[in-house]
Amino acid sequence: MNYAEIQTNVKRVLNEIPKGVILEAAVKSRSESEIRAAVDAGIKVFGDNYVVESQKNRDLYRNEDIKCHLIGHLQRNKVKKAVALFDMVETLDSVRLARAINKKSCEIGKVMPVLIEVNSGLEKQKYGILPNDVKFFINKIKNLKNLKVQGLMTMGPFTGNPENARKYFTDTKKIFQSLKVNCPENVEMKYLSMGMSNSYKVAIEEGANIIRVGSALFGPRQSV
Ligand SMILES: *Cc1c(COP(=O)(O)O)cnc(C)c1O
Repeated sequence: MNYAEIQTNVKRVLNEIPKGVILEAAVKSRSESEIRAAVDAGIKVFGDNYVVESQKNRDLYRNEDIKCHLIGHLQRNKVKKAVALFDMVETLDSVRLARAINKKSCEIGKVMPVLIEVNSGLEKQKYGILPNDVKFFINKIKNLKNLKVQGLMTMGPFTGNPENARKYFTDTKKIFQSLKVNCPENVEMKYLSMGMSNSYKVAIEEGANIIRVGSALFGPRQSV
């Protein structure tokens, strides 16, 4: 899509969503000019799936109050770079990864905000902590001082019909709420990241305050 179309889309979605919901632009495989259009239209949070791609995008997130989150799976050999680059890792999905992020963050004197990725659809091929294990998982990582848990993220199974996603969003919201009560020290339940282009409206109804939107802003992705 061209500059004007992206501007129109961003502004439309920003107008549509309630105050307090963050529109995060998911920019995997998008060009420089597409990302620039989103910056100019007022996007404040970008979601990158890959560390290397995000490094390349850095110059575009030039405005000081623009944040960049990692929304793809993080491999442990990329942790050092990721910790230096990102303002938040939304895809914390194992204790080993938590320890690695903590260690590398400590080395550079940073406290890394993270969201725990919940595998709300219990899908074998997906990363994320199973819903029943989230509490236990938090207990295992809560003492890592250079990690700051700030909430939950989920994808849910992909289906064409956004109504089918609702159950997974509701389930994740329930976990979020129950963790809010009796939250361990050093853990915060502040952000709930759910919903993509076809499902963000449903996700907001179910309590999302970060939505990750790609194709509704930039048009369909070229298949790779
Ligand atoms: C690509 C992606 C999105 C956005 O998907 P769209 O359907 O293009 O809106 C959201 N979250 C994650 C983790 C993604 O990889």
